[in-house]
Amino acid sequence: MPLNGAFNAQAALASVNLPKRIARLADLVYNLWWTWNPDVTEIFEFIDRQLWSEVAHNPIKFLRRVKRQDLNAALQSPPFLELFDRVIAAFDTYMKAENTWYKREHSDKLDRQIAYFSTEFGLHESFPTYSGGLGVLSGDHAKEASDLGLPFVGVGLYYDQGYFSQHITEDGWQEAGYITYSFDDLPIIPLNDADGQPLMVSVELPGRTLHARLWKIQVGRIPLVLLDSDVPQNAPADRDLTARLYGGDKDTRICQEIVLGIGGVRALRLLGITPTVWHMNEGHSAFLTFECIRELIAAGLDFNAAVEKIKSETVFTTHTPVPAGNEEFPDWMMDRYFNQYWPSMGLTRDGLMDLARLQQSWGTSFGMSVLAIRMSRQSNGVSELHGQVSRKMWQFLFPGTPAERVPIGAITNGVHTGTWLARGMRDLYNRYLDADWLEEVDNPETWQPFLAVPDDELRATRLHLKRKLTSYIRDRARQQWQTTHRHPVQIVAAGTLLDPYKLTIGFARRFSTYKRGSLVMRDVDRLLRIVNNVKMPVQIIFAGKAHPMDDPGKKVIQEVYRQLKRAEFAGRIAFLEDYDINLARYLVQGVDVWMNNPRRPLEASGTSGMKAALNGALNFSILDGWWQEGYNGENGWAIGDESELDDHEAQDSKDAASLYDVLENQIQSLYYEDGSIGPSVGWLRRVREGISTLAPQFSMRRMVKQYVEEMYLSGPKA
Ligand SMILES: *Cc1c(COP(=O)(O)O)cnc(C)c1O
Repeated sequence: MPLNGAFNAQAALASVNLPKRIARLADLVYNLWWTWNPDVTEIFEFIDRQLWSEVAHNPIKFLRRVKRQDLNAALQSPPFLELFDRVIAAFDTYMKAENTWYKREHSDKLDRQIAYFSTEFGLHESFPTYSGGLGVLSGDHAKEASDLGLPFVGVGLYYDQGYFSQHITEDGWQEAGYITYSFDDLPIIPLNDADGQPLMVSVELPGRTLHARLWKIQVGRIPLVLLDSDVPQNAPADRDLTARLYGGDKDTRICQEIVLGIGGVRALRLLGITPTVWHMNEGHSAFLTFECIRELIAAGLDFNAAVEKIKSETVFTTHTPVPAGNEEFPDWMMDRYFNQYWPSMGLTRDGLMDLARLQQSWGTSFGMSVLAIRMSRQSNGVSELHGQVSRKMWQFLFPGTPAERVPIGAITNGVHTGTWLARGMRDLYNRYLDADWLEEVDNPETWQPFLAVPDDELRATRLHLKRKLTSYIRDRARQQWQTTHRHPVQIVAAGTLLDPYKLTIGFARRFSTYKRGSLVMRDVDRLLRIVNNVKMPVQIIFAGKAHPMDDPGKKVIQEVYRQLKRAEFAGRIAFLEDYDINLARYLVQGVDVWMNNPRRPLEASGTSGMKAALNGALNFSILDGWWQEGYNGENGWAIGDESELDDHEAQDSKDAASLYDVLENQIQSLYYEDGSIGPSVGWLRRVREGISTLAPQFSMRRMVKQYVEEMYLSGPKA
């Protein structure tokens, strides 16, 4: 099967001419396993720390640029060789997959095959296939599927320009830049046929056939198949079709979703893969059900039997708690793109439209989430609260069924421990938890010994991480100052005056209006008093992109930016440009408090707060999404209560008042309570409570096991 065919990483990097003793470095850099195993990073840092930072943690770029003399010097170092051998041995053991959770628990179901479709996979900052939370969730899901040993294949698109990079003007306006990533610098493995020709699939678009080439990314033990329209067989406009994630207009979107859904199924068939479960992560990939129906009709089934069959194999995860956020296409567009296709599904035009018809004020449209719900044996939201909201929102699809009985369940999101855990905290866990703690990370018992970690050790580790964050921030600011001709006030706004010994709050997420990024600025005078409290100063670090088409979101960034650069704030509030996985890692690992204040109940889950909790930051959040489940009164703080007012102004005032009260009366005073340099003893007690309660419950391991048991293996055997 070409998917597992021999790819020779060492040959692919032949031009690098690695010394024989460490030639297997090539195998490491062509498998994203390294991204959650920090010992591999240590190898690169040992060879040339400066270069590792210059290439933005891209190991292939690193190997292409590293000086032979630096490699030779490393070869002379016994500790380096010991590290290298240890890493290779760990990698080989991992890849043998002899004793995985899935094999132990489900040895009778090794023949299953789970195909997981998503528009985004956020695996690492050096790999441009994600924009934000949805992508990071898919990436973490794939990594955990690998760790647990699931029979799993991911399907997505390859975007050679990725999402966009963010630049903020002096007046706080977001500008977008695009970089084209070079194939040679990415761990992309070509999928070829027996003659060495690229494997291609095609889909029909109006007036033409679109071709897409198949690539593979190896994520530990599992493959991720990516489709790419940039091939010479396509017209120039079509070659750009998969260039940008969420770029272009609605036509681009429907074409991308046809490539992902229909092309994705054809890709798996070409690779000889027969999924027994199709998992649609968000509705973008729901056209895959069209293709499965078409295949079954071609094989002789009638339409109803085909639907029954595909329904028995498909599961759907929804992420969007507002109707407008769910993808839909107007009827005329469905006509345009599918008028050749519906006969092959055994349908008339009306029959096709009926599959997912939505009545809007302006006419009817075709809803991708509606299609996904109707074609799935099970659907789920991504937190308990989001499950409830989804059942209400989609109740109209199940006439006569009361909301609480609408068949949409909930599996709360989690985060991949190895990916998001700081090295310093990992060392602490290694010292105080049982040796197999990472294997048992989802078991609350695993974390009990952590309650005994001494204050001094915990405080020292937390301070170390905050110093790392501030030093990283200064390096970035210095680089901007040196290379991009910023106004001096922008260098202050970039965080150069932050003090690693003072209470620091992080707020980083997509800027869209419901997330209320400027809520903390609602009463600027009050905020000034809090921030500039002489004995107990508070710092706030903002980061996040607005979607390039979302001007209201960009205005929120501007409002925040215009305020924070005022001299009165004394450089204690910063906005960091270009939020990505790398910056997210520094922030969730380094800040003391992770703040989140969406308008309830619009945050389906949120995951960044889980990353922060895992590293010992305390959450301070609206009781929405995951925090509604996570908060126990002792492991962080709540903003506001469970009320949801129709009057947004009134809700915002109420929540802002609560935010200031808790910040001033509880958070600020607790941190500085006993005059320690760094967090007080009372604060550290809360940190231990936060880690031991939240790390297991919101781990990706808990989440993926739940998907396996409640979704993947619950249906009839195909
Ligand atoms: C985790 C993460 C997100 C998602 O965070 P939310 O809590 O859902 O806002 C977004 N972007 C990046 C880069 C992340 O790492």
